[in-house]
Amino acid sequence: MALEGDWFTEVAPGAEMALGLKLRKKLAEERSPYQHIEIYDTESFGRLMVIDGCVMLTSRDNFIYHEMMAHAALFTHANPRRVVIIGGGDCGTLKEVLKHPGVEHVLQVDIDEAVTRLSEKYFPELCESNSDPRAELSFADGVKWIEAADAGSVDVLIVDSTDPVGPAEGLFAEPFYRACRRVLGERGIFVQQSESPLLHTDILTKMHADLSAAGFATTATLSFPQPTYPSGWWSATLAGPNVGEFRQTAATAKRFPTRYYTAAVHQAALARPAFLEDALSES
Ligand code: SAM
Repeated sequence: MALEGDWFTEVAPGAEMALGLKLRKKLAEERSPYQHIEIYDTESFGRLMVIDGCVMLTSRDNFIYHEMMAHAALFTHANPRRVVIIGGGDCGTLKEVLKHPGVEHVLQVDIDEAVTRLSEKYFPELCESNSDPRAELSFADGVKWIEAADAGSVDVLIVDSTDPVGPAEGLFAEPFYRACRRVLGERGIFVQQSESPLLHTDILTKMHADLSAAGFATTATLSFPQPTYPSGWWSATLAGPNVGEFRQTAATAKRFPTRYYTAAVHQAALARPAFLEDALSES
């Protein structure tokens, strides 16, 4: 990350490209035991959270990512009641999950309490459901948490983490996926943010291979725009018994508001671009 004049710049490693956001001012900066967190006010994207030099979210476009991370998996499961979010400390995904009236309990396990405390202060709109009695916030390493969790105890597991370096590295590995498969049982649905289809095809193909090796019967990748992430194009990868299909009638008839997710968007996001199809069949 570089601050040039009044611009925040995130250089995508190896891609020789950068995203820039014009800044108004720095609102907060904290070095937690795990990572370096910064919050800025930007000229046109509202507030910006940065962790270790990478954009986590902005006020303006986070709805796309958070809605796709939550609703696609929840409408893929037949009857989601028990949900766990690993990571997700800004609480945007949690807020979306809690829109589902059938959900009885959501446990969020983020390694870094500082992310949630800063989000409560600077992104209150994402944290407005944190006091929902169905929500439980826990601060622990997701890799350790999953090892200790009971088999078959979770319906939907959402991995909303930072990139596969630093504390999140263990969340992109086959042993973690094996533990997720055990905790989800036969019918559970897994979803993980899986980086840019264009820039990180290698991460995506490895994720599909590792999830299959870990015992998930099917995998599918949703792709969607995310203007402030490297390349502007992002993905989430699903795994479970039949993740190419979802409860379309329920998704169409949902009674809660969304700004990006619809049943038609979900269906379209499942379409696999030709280069990704080739990369996945070669791997
Ligand atoms: N939407 C974002 C993205 O794709 O860049 C992710 C946002 S969310 C803030 C990411 C969270 O993952 C952070 O709060 C971080 O603390 C958490 N995290 C990283 N490694 C973790 C681990 N091993 N266990 C639990 N949480 C972890």
